[in-house]
Amino acid sequence: MSTTWHVLGAGSLGTLWATRLARAGLPVRLIVRDTMRLHSYKAAGGLTLVENGQANTYAVPGETPDSPEPIRRLLVACKAYDAENAVARLASRLAADAELILLQNGLGSQDAVAMQVPQARCISASSTEGAFRDGDWRVVFAGHGYTWLGDAGHPVAPIWLDDLEAAKIPHEWSTDILTRLWRKLALNCAINPLTVLHHCRNGGLQDHHCEVATLCAELAELLERCGQPAAADNLQQEVERVIQATAANYSSMYQDVANQRRTEISYLLGHACKVAARHQLNLPHLNQLQQRLIAHLGSLGLPSD
Ligand code: NAP
Repeated sequence: MSTTWHVLGAGSLGTLWATRLARAGLPVRLIVRDTMRLHSYKAAGGLTLVENGQANTYAVPGETPDSPEPIRRLLVACKAYDAENAVARLASRLAADAELILLQNGLGSQDAVAMQVPQARCISASSTEGAFRDGDWRVVFAGHGYTWLGDAGHPVAPIWLDDLEAAKIPHEWSTDILTRLWRKLALNCAINPLTVLHHCRNGGLQDHHCEVATLCAELAELLERCGQPAAADNLQQEVERVIQATAANYSSMYQDVANQRRTEISYLLGHACKVAARHQLNLPHLNQLQQRLIAHLGSLGLPSD
């Protein structure tokens, strides 16, 4: 009998994973915030995934955090700022051999979650898949991609990667997941805040070449200092390549701000500035970028953490 996948958070990525696992016949349960959300979920009749214009609904059983069933495998699919508290509410349900898969972008939330559940194995993920919600309990699969999974403290791959294979979730086990997470964080820091401040698509940053180059130099210095030289390698070239390849897109932070949603700033640019300060590294442009972004978010009435 397969181990049940408990999916915490029925948002874009949580739904994308839960529906594909359920479609492959694997046991999945969805954990929603509270009884009110559970009633709403039950009324909807399941999770709907829209793929290539076609919508399919999967009747994944739902529950609240207070449900009594023990949890052995937990996919944490909340935003970075919600992950620690959401997992803390489940700590007493985790089995002795529990494994957590953390889908959060950026860095900082993974360590915060791991502190809540010292008995569990925490596996971090970095994904290039894209999805968005176009209604309650309904998600559009917007961009095919890949998910790298890894455990910085324990390089052996878990057995359940077979489930991902069966569910056709493109993935790879990574023995350098921290490098991947740092690299993605650096790309994000060099692109996303500037798209918000200059109010432009990614391609608009081609007009701010010097500003981007200065940030890349400081980010590379930070990566070197915190023992991630591979993540610093050719950073500026890759940032320029991404800006060009995604010129027509609005960054995720731009979209959050445009939709008046809280951003994950504390786990991206905020984390970079915090680690730089810890290393007593003076990165004036990165710090100034953070101050400008915080002021901008404040002027829009959005949280700056
Ligand atoms: P999302 O659509 O906002 O979904 C987050 C979900 O978590 C929401 O359904 C929310 O519930 C739920 N949640 C929050 N606190 C909870 C709690 N205590 N108990 C139960 N559920 C809780 O977020 P997302 O876009 O999937 O992003 C998740 C993470 O993946 C982020 O770190 C993001 O940066 C990363 N990521 C996303 C994508 C993408 O394409 N979307 C791609 C790569 C990486 P409610 O519905 O009740 O608010």
